[in-house]
Amino acid sequence: MLPWVVRRTRLPLLSLRCVDCGSRSATTGEGRFRVNANGKLLDVWLLVRCVSCDRTSKLPVHERAAVRSLDPAELHGYRVNDPGLVASRLLDPLLARRNRFTLDWTGAWRLDIPSPWLDEGWPVQVGVVFDDPVPVRPDRLIARGLGLSRNEVLRRIKCGVPLRRPTSAGFTFTVMPEG
Ligand SMILES: [Zn+2]
Repeated sequence: MLPWVVRRTRLPLLSLRCVDCGSRSATTGEGRFRVNANGKLLDVWLLVRCVSCDRTSKLPVHERAAVRSLDPAELHGYRVNDPGLVASRLLDPLLARRNRFTLDWTGAWRLDIPSPWLDEGWPVQVGVVFDDPVPVRPDRLIARGLGLSRNEVLRRIKCGVPLRRPTSAGFTFTVMPEG
């Protein structure tokens, strides 16, 4: 089976309406948290910036959480703006749901095809794995990876998942010979 890998090249933007200018795009930029300690309670926000007017918004990650309830390593990560923690919080579907934004992955990911298409016997099996939860339409991904038209994809691909429904879960497909 040929392995294909979908992975991000940078953090996605947020489709989030700016209350000042009405733009619908925000970025985590260099990736920063704000931590506010109030006695034994903590607030942690992820800071995002409108791409048009630079207005900063704070997305609550923890609200009035007991200091003791947080893993010290995680708390340290918030204080030093750990890039891995920025990514994992931004990509956490819970944060998106609570703050009513969606992720805009346009131009933020790539498809890696590590091994070249050798003289495999037909039919050829390909397994797609996701290093990051990028939602892709299987038909578009396969068309791009194989250099086929979407009609050819529909004709020549056998796949256990719906080809037109975006997914970020791994799947496999089979390429049938031409004709
Ligand atoms: Zn704005």
